[in-house]
Amino acid sequence: MGKKKFAVIVLSAGRGTRMQANVPKQYLSLAGKPVLYYALDAFEKSRAEEIILVSGKEEVDYCQNEIVNKYGFTKVRAVVPGGKERYHSVFCGLLQLKKMGRQPDYVMIHDGARPFVDQATIECCAQTAVKDQACVAGMPVKDTIKIVDREQFSIETPQRSQVWQIQTPQVFAFSLIYQAYQELLQREEQGHIISVTDDAMVVEQILKTKVRLVEGSYKNIKITTPEDLEMAQIFLKNNV
Ligand code: C5P
Repeated sequence: MGKKKFAVIVLSAGRGTRMQANVPKQYLSLAGKPVLYYALDAFEKSRAEEIILVSGKEEVDYCQNEIVNKYGFTKVRAVVPGGKERYHSVFCGLLQLKKMGRQPDYVMIHDGARPFVDQATIECCAQTAVKDQACVAGMPVKDTIKIVDREQFSIETPQRSQVWQIQTPQVFAFSLIYQAYQELLQREEQGHIISVTDDAMVVEQILKTKVRLVEGSYKNIKITTPEDLEMAQIFLKNNV
């Protein structure tokens, strides 16, 4: 594939209100280590050369000392504070990469709350991004999905075979994703109301660029609610 430079942005600045815990979900303990440890470990072992960790403003020191230094993650180049919404945090990571000068060719964006991303998924996303410029991991949904109105009446049932649930990593050519986010944030400054829940939709909607989906894994869950944590404990126990 030639020597393309990959950087990673690991997002860890969410408050995790759906977990109903005092500690944000990415710092909860999973088999004695914080949830975030597992995602960092996966990318430390990947082809990526450098990692930017985006954390809450109050947790920068904790992340640097109690996670990065403690577990010896040598690829983490910086821990930077994120923003109000996930997309603000992504832009903080992109700005940091730009600031550090040596721009990567590609950037992988990953939720710190997804501890079970595997090397095959990371590698497949990386290779597909080199081919197609924009690639995200996902899986076909198992359940039927319905679109509902405000009163919770079903108004549409998309064909299940065409519906995927989207995960991370989401991998893009750096210049493409930087331009998409720059324009997104400019639009927000101009007063446009923006609802963004993943990176692919920024590239699709702002730059009208197609994004390729590749199969991740049903184990690549995002720890969001207490049930997810229980599931994560089972996955880990079965792996030992
Ligand atoms: O909120 P959601 O579950 O979509 O968050 C996905 C990931 O984005 C989590 O790892 C979370 O920590 C991160 N996030 C962030 N900054 C925010 C909100 C979420 O880094 N403002």
